[in-house]
Amino acid sequence: MTATTLASRLLEVIESDILPLTERGVAGGNKVFGAAILDKSDLSVVIAGTNDETDNPLWHGEINTLRQFYELPDRPTTQDLVFLTTHEPCTLCMSAITWAGFDNYYYFYSHEDSRDSFAIPHDLKILKEVFGLDPGGYRRTNAFWTAYAIGDLIEGAPEPLRVRLLEQRDRIRRRYDALSVQYQDRKGDNDIPLN
Ligand SMILES: [Zn+2]
Repeated sequence: MTATTLASRLLEVIESDILPLTERGVAGGNKVFGAAILDKSDLSVVIAGTNDETDNPLWHGEINTLRQFYELPDRPTTQDLVFLTTHEPCTLCMSAITWAGFDNYYYFYSHEDSRDSFAIPHDLKILKEVFGLDPGGYRRTNAFWTAYAIGDLIEGAPEPLRVRLLEQRDRIRRRYDALSVQYQDRKGDNDIPLN
């Protein structure tokens, strides 16, 4: 599995597997965050999920996906899996990924994007208030896992693939832009503590 193959496949999973779930989730008043778990060997999707905080404020996209993963009757070991998340995980989800035994996660949007483009500043605020960390201050490579930005994989791709991946990235971004407007317009109606 090359980094380029991986970037292309992760974007495809966001578009085809995660976004349809998130479009339904946001229509129900939930945030835009989603995730998927893939098999390292063939990059097939084991499960995809999306945020369901209107049901439970702990059901972030990643946690809700993990919850459903652990309900599967027959599941692979997490060491053999890739964890894909649409947005760089918050401290809750980062810990859940750690406790579940994954050695990686890949994210599409950064914490700064969540704050600046999605009006969701809570990830960075918790890192600062609880852990005293500035943006980018946590250890992206540590004894448990390595965190990868999909944007870095795209930038490392050879031409003309890089341009094609950038087009795909922008197409995905447009769908998230619309979803974010939809969530923000209606979030005054929900009782999610950190909305
Ligand atoms: Zn989270």
